[in-house]
Amino acid sequence: MTKNKKNQPENENIGYQKVDIYNQEKIDQLKGHYAKILNDIGEDTNREGLLKTPERVAKAMQFLTHGYDLDPVAILNSAKFREDYKQMVIVKDIEIYSMCEHHLLPFFGKAHVAYIPNNYIVGLSKIPRIVDAFARRLQVQERLTTEIRDCIQNTLKPLGVAVVIEAQHLCMQMRGIQKQNSVTTTSAFTGEFENDKTRAEFINLIRGTFH
Ligand SMILES: [Zn+2]
Repeated sequence: MTKNKKNQPENENIGYQKVDIYNQEKIDQLKGHYAKILNDIGEDTNREGLLKTPERVAKAMQFLTHGYDLDPVAILNSAKFREDYKQMVIVKDIEIYSMCEHHLLPFFGKAHVAYIPNNYIVGLSKIPRIVDAFARRLQVQERLTTEIRDCIQNTLKPLGVAVVIEAQHLCMQMRGIQKQNSVTTTSAFTGEFENDKTRAEFINLIRGTFH
């Protein structure tokens, strides 16, 4: 959360900017490691196509893990409004790109998030932002699901939270562990969503998006 702060304007976005200014010190360190990895797999780091690869990969890795620099609680609190609305709010089809912490390979898919407000609502764009803040780290899909749920529950204290994530894991697909197109679904609920009827309503409302 510190490295780019001095370059950012003092505004409501503090704490969750997209990282588009790279930390050169970190890039240089990572670059050295990736050059070594390329050598270790038998590549020639001097051939033309690979000359800039260590630096590119270092930058890619820094971007793919920039969620560590974001504060999801701050994101929600930055647009938390008092409101009497007590019906289900659903944000569905949120794109997810994350990295499996066991193989450092991507998993990607969609998240569907719902909550039932209890005196407070949050700006709708903040839901995809916190999903991204947790996804842009090394993850397992199960923990990603519960972290999103718990963050919303603890910050907004709604009557209930529901999170469903459907994702494809390249560590399964590329390594041939399971069927090539299998989708893993995880879900996590609190409060009113523990109730069968409410949960069924939520599932019904997001169902159109299941593949
Ligand atoms: Zn994996």
